[in-house]
Amino acid sequence: MSDKHSGGERELSAWLATRSVERAVAGLQRQLHPRGPTSFLVDLASNDYLGLTKDSRVGHAAAQAALRWGTGAAASRLVTGSLQLHGELEAALTEFTGNEAALVFSTGYQANVGVISALADAQTLIVSDAHVHASLVDGCRLARAGGLEIVRHSDLEGVAAALKGRQHPRAMVLVESVYSVLGDAAPLVELGALVAEYDAVLVVDEAHAIAVAGQEGRGLVAAAGLAGRPDIVTTLTLSKALASQGGAVLGSTAVIEHLVNTARPFIYDTALAPAATAAALEALLVVQAEPALPQRVLELSARLAAGVGVATPAGAVLSVPMRSPEQALHAQAQLAEAGYRVGCFRPPSVPDGVSRLRLTARATLSDDQVDDVIGAITAITDAG
Ligand code: PMP
Repeated sequence: MSDKHSGGERELSAWLATRSVERAVAGLQRQLHPRGPTSFLVDLASNDYLGLTKDSRVGHAAAQAALRWGTGAAASRLVTGSLQLHGELEAALTEFTGNEAALVFSTGYQANVGVISALADAQTLIVSDAHVHASLVDGCRLARAGGLEIVRHSDLEGVAAALKGRQHPRAMVLVESVYSVLGDAAPLVELGALVAEYDAVLVVDEAHAIAVAGQEGRGLVAAAGLAGRPDIVTTLTLSKALASQGGAVLGSTAVIEHLVNTARPFIYDTALAPAATAAALEALLVVQAEPALPQRVLELSARLAAGVGVATPAGAVLSVPMRSPEQALHAQAQLAEAGYRVGCFRPPSVPDGVSRLRLTARATLSDDQVDDVIGAITAITDAG
């Protein structure tokens, strides 16, 4: 290294090199693999659950919105970035999920961070399921809540004990309706009863459920009869089944009004781009016109789960445990050779430290493709 480099630069390079070696030794080094617009691999990895990212109706809606409204919203919502198009999407999401009001964010990640940090205060105990997504975890980190208790996954007694024994006047329970790694559903009916009993708020992330699970894909909050209750707040992403980009919070008018005024990821962020807004809106119309699409996802995920020997998931995602991060990577590569793109989840992206193949049962897969991939996975896991 030349003398031109400062001590700070040398320190940073050494530190980065050490972290990189540590990751490599643990089998946890990640790399980006940019793909082209088309692929020969059959997609069982993406979150495009309904196959709508390539739907011509959705594509045209996005293109037309970009031409009509501009390629960017050009300001934050509270400045001049609020478009009638955002209002249309919010109204459509409100109606679809059976809520009173909705607010669109520029990502699902921001929606989660925004809702938790805006609704929890120093008087609030946050009670979080151990398996919630990183965006909910980061929301807790930013919330400056009075307390945080992480309870074991789907442990109703743990939630009840935390709520009952709390020192704080307010409490907020965080769960996902369909968990992103294991694919299981939260016990929402029971959680709804618990928050009512202990005067708490329930925040449910429906990222993996919206347009997939519940009646006609309306989500599991609606299926549990909780939609529209003032103590239940739902978040969702527009980037999975709804084939776009962005997120939303759904709840009472009072909650949404509070978020508009206090949620920093909403206030200080440029509004969702017109093309993304219109794409999500069109995708929502397609889902309503074609309820067979979410139905097909659930049929295929049940078929895939039965074939690879794991529990039937509540949505599109399921995962197959592997012995080690290396085995998971190797299995992913073997499946790619067989023509299938599957996901590979390794720590820290797994809640229990177990590396896995992550499969998504997408509506556009055929029964034969699913059966073929089951055969390929079984051959890999049988061979150890
Ligand atoms: N919540 C869950 C459960 C998720 O899986 C994800 C995305 N992986 C998000 C929130 C974040 O959504 P987005 O990608 O729209 O930021």
